[in-house]
Amino acid sequence: MKIHEYQGKEILRNHGVTTPRGVPCFSVDEAVKAAESLGGNVWVVKAQIHAGGRGKGGGVKVAKSLDQVREYADQILGMQLVTHQTGPEGQKVRRLLIEEGADIKKELYVGMVVDRVTQRVCLMASSEGGMDIEEVAAHTPEKIHKVFVDPAKGLTDAEADDVARKIGVPDASITQARTQLQGLYNAFWGTDASLAEINPLILTGDGKVIALDAKMNFDSNALYRHEDILAMRDLDEEDLAEIEASKHDLSYISLDGNIGCMVNGAGLAMATMDTIKLFGAEPANFLDVGGGATVEKVTEAFKLMLANSKVKAILVNIFGGIMRCDTIADGIIEAAKQTHLSVPLVVRMRGTNEEIGKRTLEQSGLPIITANDMAEAAQKVVAAVAGH
Ligand code: ADP
Ligand code: MG
Repeated sequence: MKIHEYQGKEILRNHGVTTPRGVPCFSVDEAVKAAESLGGNVWVVKAQIHAGGRGKGGGVKVAKSLDQVREYADQILGMQLVTHQTGPEGQKVRRLLIEEGADIKKELYVGMVVDRVTQRVCLMASSEGGMDIEEVAAHTPEKIHKVFVDPAKGLTDAEADDVARKIGVPDASITQARTQLQGLYNAFWGTDASLAEINPLILTGDGKVIALDAKMNFDSNALYRHEDILAMRDLDEEDLAEIEASKHDLSYISLDGNIGCMVNGAGLAMATMDTIKLFGAEPANFLDVGGGATVEKVTEAFKLMLANSKVKAILVNIFGGIMRCDTIADGIIEAAKQTHLSVPLVVRMRGTNEEIGKRTLEQSGLPIITANDMAEAAQKVVAAVAGH
């Protein structure tokens, strides 16, 4: 699960990290009031969307008067913000963060992820912070320093100080940098985060170390023990089909292609997508109906796939282990009726009650194309899309 910058900063502050003072806002008037209440004479108007690269996309603007705060808030609120992380259609801005302007002397980068090889939290830090960290990683990876944190000790003072020095924090600011880095680690650890990033972490003119941006993602499997974080979920930022799928306990990810896939088991679902690509087409989604799919679940899965107007054909690929093929067949027929299925449907199923399932499909009178193995199924669905 993702959250907004202002929410990430709140979590970081609760763990001792210093951020600029700021106020989240939902309207232009609120934005001006927020700037007034913050005081000072420089404010930053920041679009809040679940994607980075906002600065380059025109979603972060420095205002030098309250009139400018009004002007920028008006410009940014409601805009369709396009960044390298949103895709070409962009994301509508519904929330702003009004923040006091910081005196930036140097922009640094610090981030954390779970490293699967060492099974530790990996701290990454670089002197080259700001808006182009992807470029740094691609072209000058030696400028990114890593620490694999021992979970029994946490991020030690020595480790934090060492990495702070490596990224150019001056001696007088090392203690502050240590507080920020350890705060970031504790926030990451304490919330079951999967990613936490401060880009930029800045050095100010008077030697302070401040988190100017905050990005946090969380492990969805751990959210049951973080009600406070779950409360930060913003459904406006999430894919509608994915929200609907989660209500029915279906694992569904929207993709860009035109072949809807309904599969049981994540591994088989990925293999199915690979096979479709192998034969030259693109899947419209990843969809794992799980091991215990009912007729209702299969019907919901069909509704989800068909709600996507890009879908030109559907491929059902089922291995009946615990799942019974006849249940899937009943589900397919029910779903086809309820959704007035009008795109070609290719079904490949093997396993428990396969014969009963196949007979049910045949007797249904529906124009279902059957296949015996995955390659045949993928070829048939690709051909169906191409209109052969
Ligand atoms: P994004 O990473 O989505 O582009 P950031 O929050 O990192 O958004 O902001 C982009 C840039 O805007 C930062 O690298 C920084 O230079 C500037 N900036 C952001 N917040 C402030 C602030 N409070 N004061 C001054 N400059 C800021
Ligand atoms: Mg940033």
